[in-house]
Amino acid sequence: MKQVGLVYHPDYLYHDPGEHPENAARLQRVLDLLEEMGTKQRLVQVKPRQATVTEIAYVHRLAYIEEVKRFAEGGGGHFSIDTSGSPQTYDVARLAVGGALSGLDAIMMGLDSAFALVRPPGHHAFPGEGMGFCFFNNVAVAARYAQRRYSFERILIVDWDVHHGNGTETIFYGDPNVLYFSVHQSPFYPGTGHIDDVGWGEGQGFNVNVPLPAGQGDAAYRHVFQEILLPVGREFQPDLVLISAGQDSHFADYLGGMQVTAAGFGELAGMVRQVADEFAGGRVLAVLEGGYSPPAMAASVLSILSRLGDLDLKIPEDTSGLQESPDELARRRVAEVKAVQRHFWKNL
Ligand SMILES: [Zn+2]
Repeated sequence: MKQVGLVYHPDYLYHDPGEHPENAARLQRVLDLLEEMGTKQRLVQVKPRQATVTEIAYVHRLAYIEEVKRFAEGGGGHFSIDTSGSPQTYDVARLAVGGALSGLDAIMMGLDSAFALVRPPGHHAFPGEGMGFCFFNNVAVAARYAQRRYSFERILIVDWDVHHGNGTETIFYGDPNVLYFSVHQSPFYPGTGHIDDVGWGEGQGFNVNVPLPAGQGDAAYRHVFQEILLPVGREFQPDLVLISAGQDSHFADYLGGMQVTAAGFGELAGMVRQVADEFAGGRVLAVLEGGYSPPAMAASVLSILSRLGDLDLKIPEDTSGLQESPDELARRRVAEVKAVQRHFWKNL
């Protein structure tokens, strides 16, 4: 059995965007389900610290960090067109980044993997701009922290959130040591994530986008992971694997249009773990991104934890009536991605 950490702090509930899909109920439901299923005792509880300004500045501009601070001090409200906050937002956002860093520290002190149940999410945050409910890019800071604090060279970021992680892509676009892999719905918010966006300069080939049409489920995602993530991951040979774990690609999610099941997320986590087991000493850190249907999100997180820790949990989910669309479109898209990425990866 593997030792899995759960990173959580009650203060994560205090970032308050008002009447908004990204709300505290999302985390509460996950905790309730873990409690109900008796899973909490089987996880190692990790208490996060706040990230320092210096750490956040590995990725973000100091002026922007200051802007988020002043926004919160001014009482919050609307930060950008789709992103809001409250007086607690700056402190909670620093604690969210710190959650990713503490998860990594716990792995380095002996855990096999960890899930950071944090909010606000991060993958739409740019060095100097916040959008898509995100302020600081939790996963991106964790990748830089892993390189600086633990001298890891190559880091693989797997992003299965239904939305493309435009912030993360931008941050590492010219970097050959951080491979960003995203499977997302397209066309969809935020409008980025095209197949031909492969990185620039030395970073060419280290950005892999798999845009899928709406309606794709477990079979299509499995196909994407088997055909692209596994061969590319094995060629890249990461020292650490980070997951931008957004469960808004679940079939019950009301923001996304995909059909992934909770069991499906477990399967994806299992394939990520395969790469980590082969090259990264099994080190996987999952960090929460989206996921807006609390029951679906809770079942999905449980399924991911179960797979990361070999916990063999029974996942409470009713998938009857779920009709997965034929994945012919997805297969074609996968072939297109492989044709583009073959220039950089001989395993493809
Ligand atoms: Zn999302």
